[in-house]
Amino acid sequence: MAEVFYDKDADLSVLEGLTVGVLGYGNQGRAWALNLRDSGVTVVVGNVRDEYWGKAEKDGFKVLDLDEASAVADLICLLLPDEVQPVVYREHVEGNLDRGKMLVFAHGFSIRYGLIKPPDFVDVALAAPRMIGSGVRRLYELGLGAPAFLAVKQDYTGEAWGRLLALAKALGFTRVGALKSSFEEETELDLFTEQAVMPVIIAAFMKAYEILSETGYSPEAIALELLASGELIEMFRQVCKRGLIGQLPLHSRTSQYGQLSRTRRFLKLIEDAMRLSLNEIRSGSFSAEWVSEQKGGYVRFRKLMENALNHPLCHAEARVKDKVKIPYDLL
Ligand code: NDP
Repeated sequence: MAEVFYDKDADLSVLEGLTVGVLGYGNQGRAWALNLRDSGVTVVVGNVRDEYWGKAEKDGFKVLDLDEASAVADLICLLLPDEVQPVVYREHVEGNLDRGKMLVFAHGFSIRYGLIKPPDFVDVALAAPRMIGSGVRRLYELGLGAPAFLAVKQDYTGEAWGRLLALAKALGFTRVGALKSSFEEETELDLFTEQAVMPVIIAAFMKAYEILSETGYSPEAIALELLASGELIEMFRQVCKRGLIGQLPLHSRTSQYGQLSRTRRFLKLIEDAMRLSLNEIRSGSFSAEWVSEQKGGYVRFRKLMENALNHPLCHAEARVKDKVKIPYDLL
């Protein structure tokens, strides 16, 4: 069993007298800055001078250029899009790294694939929430917290774990339990979910639509049945609470038998594709592909998105949602 850390394992006083620099004020950045401040931590926000700068100022933060924030911060949290981090690191952070500072990431991609190579005189840590930024904030405000993976890659000071646990406590992560992991494990699991699990789900809905519409079912009825009804919201809530199979008794017995008896025929079908995705992730070939896509100006990425949005299922979803008014936020 992986080690799990709770509030009792972390000492917030470790951060007394230290400044945490939150670089980036987007999804995670805003949530982190607000949670840390509410936990009594000294925070400065670092950003380029645009819309997010104004937002951070409006929230009452001292906002600095990325260089200045990196210079004054003892703990530097890189809460920027993963593909932007290496450039910002090279141009604004690296030159401001004094001995004993700590670099903190919310996802391990840049370190796992060597896109950022910190010097050996700093600590390098990971506090990776399994929750979108708005959820990190909302749960904290409710007195709860988001679950997270924690890891230390480099412990120059000998105090990296103490600092990381204090940070995780201030963010609310240790309220519910934060799992000890590694940059490699966190990154590879996250990419695998995105590249081997989600594609199976997306492909299943697209192929289902194609087969059912070819057979003559109405596009709007298919879209309502597959996705638009909102039934999946409730179902996945129960999956999270009761477990993938534990929630099955909430369905009719016909449904339970149908699901269980037909799952096996799909297991073999998806195995090779899943293993291929895992190999691409572990060998670094996906990361090389993604870096080259960025350098080329996201041409393929944009085309893939355009094609996906043009799938007839997306059009049918929009049509049925226009007619059948479902209160998704209340589900
Ligand atoms: P966002 O896309 O929300 O980050 C936006 C911030 O990055 C803004 O402050 C923006 O500033 C700044 N930014 C964007 N481009 C640049 C640039 N070229 N130069 C300087 N600043 C830039 O990021 P997320 O919060 O989604 O992700 C941050 C980290 O958290 C990532 O490592 C991600 O993997 C991880 N993470 C994210 C989760 C999520 O829910 N989104 C969940 C768990 C982890 P401006 O626009 O003003 O330039």
